[in-house]
Amino acid sequence: MKDVYTFADLQDWTAATKAEEPPLRLAVFGDPVAHSASPPMHNAALKHLGIQARYTRLHVRPEELAGALRLLPAQGFLGVNCTIPHKAAALPIMDRVDDHARRIGVVNTVAVEGERLIGFNTDGPGLVRALRSEFGVDLRDMRVMVLGAGGGAGRAVAMQCGIEGCERLVLVNRAPEKAQRLAEELAPLFQHSRLLGPSARLGFAPWQTEALRHELETIDLVINCTPVGMKSTDPSPLSPSILAPHLLLYDTIYTAHRTKLMQAADEAGARSANGLSMLLHQGALSFEIWFNRSAPLAEMRAALLAAQA
Ligand code: NAP
Repeated sequence: MKDVYTFADLQDWTAATKAEEPPLRLAVFGDPVAHSASPPMHNAALKHLGIQARYTRLHVRPEELAGALRLLPAQGFLGVNCTIPHKAAALPIMDRVDDHARRIGVVNTVAVEGERLIGFNTDGPGLVRALRSEFGVDLRDMRVMVLGAGGGAGRAVAMQCGIEGCERLVLVNRAPEKAQRLAEELAPLFQHSRLLGPSARLGFAPWQTEALRHELETIDLVINCTPVGMKSTDPSPLSPSILAPHLLLYDTIYTAHRTKLMQAADEAGARSANGLSMLLHQGALSFEIWFNRSAPLAEMRAALLAAQA
C-alpha cells in the first residue's frame, strides 16, 4: 500500500490498487494528508475485527474534492474522513447531512450508502468522550475556556460546548474579533439561565494575561485549540503563573512529547491531557458509523501510540 494516493489514482482505483488485499475501501481526504495518523488507527481496528477492508490516505486538493467524493460509490468505498481543508467544503456536496454536522457546519465523516453520501461530524462528540475518559467529567457540567476560538478545531469545540449546554463558555482568540463573532453565533444556545452567580454564561476575552487570570477564576476546563505547542520549541499558550490546581487542561495537540501547556499544568499542580484521546474517540465514532458496531478502542489506541513512537 502506498503511503498516499492521489485523485488520479482514485479515478482508476481498481488499477491503482489491484495488488492490495484486503482492498482499500476507506480513506482520509486531506491537503496535506501525509501526516495523518488515522490509517494505522483504523487499520488496527479492521484487522482486529477481521473486516476485509483497509484504510488509506488520499491527497485531494480543494478543487478536486467534489469530484473525489462523487467517485466514492463507484469505486467501492464504505466511507471517508475529511480533514483540513475539506471539512466545511464537504458539507454541501453531501446527499444528506445529519443534524449535528449541519448545526456545526462541518463534516469530518462521510458514509457511502448505495449511491448516496451521508455527512456526519464526530469531532465534538469525540471530545466529549475524551474528557470523560481523561478526567471523568461531562462537558455539560463544565465552565470552559476555549483558546484558539478562531480556528476550525476551536469552532467545533465551542459549538459542542453550546450544544451540550455547558455551564459557562469563554472564547479567547489571538484575533479577538473572531472570538466575538463566534460568541454572537453561539448566543442562542446560551439563552437559558443555568448558572447562579455574577458571571455571564457566554463571553469572550482578550488574549492578555490579566484578563485571562481574571476569567480563569471561574473556569474549570481550558481547551487549547491553537497549534501552539506542536513544536517542542513552542512556548505554553498560558503562563503557569495564571494557572491554578483546580483547573483541567486539555490540549487538542497530540504530539508524542508533553506539550508546554501540559508542563505548565504540572508546574501549577493542575491535571492535563493531550489530544490523542480526542483523535481516538472521533475515529472510533466514525468507525461505529461505517460498521454499526463498537470500535476496538484498546487496539486503536495502541496503534496511535505505536505510530508516534
Ligand atoms: P486553524 O483552523 O488554523 O486555527 C488555528 C487557531 O489557532 C486560530 O484560532 C488561530 O488564531 C490560533 N493560533 C494560531 N497560531 C497562534 C499563535 N501563535 N498564538 C495564538 N493563537 C494562535 O487550525 P485547527 O484546524 O483549528 O487546528 C488547531 C489545532 O487543533 C492543531 O494543533 C491540531 O493538532 C488540533 N486538533 C486536534 C484534533 C484532535 O483530534 N485531537 C482535531 C482537530 C484539531 P487566529 O484566528 O488569531 O489566527
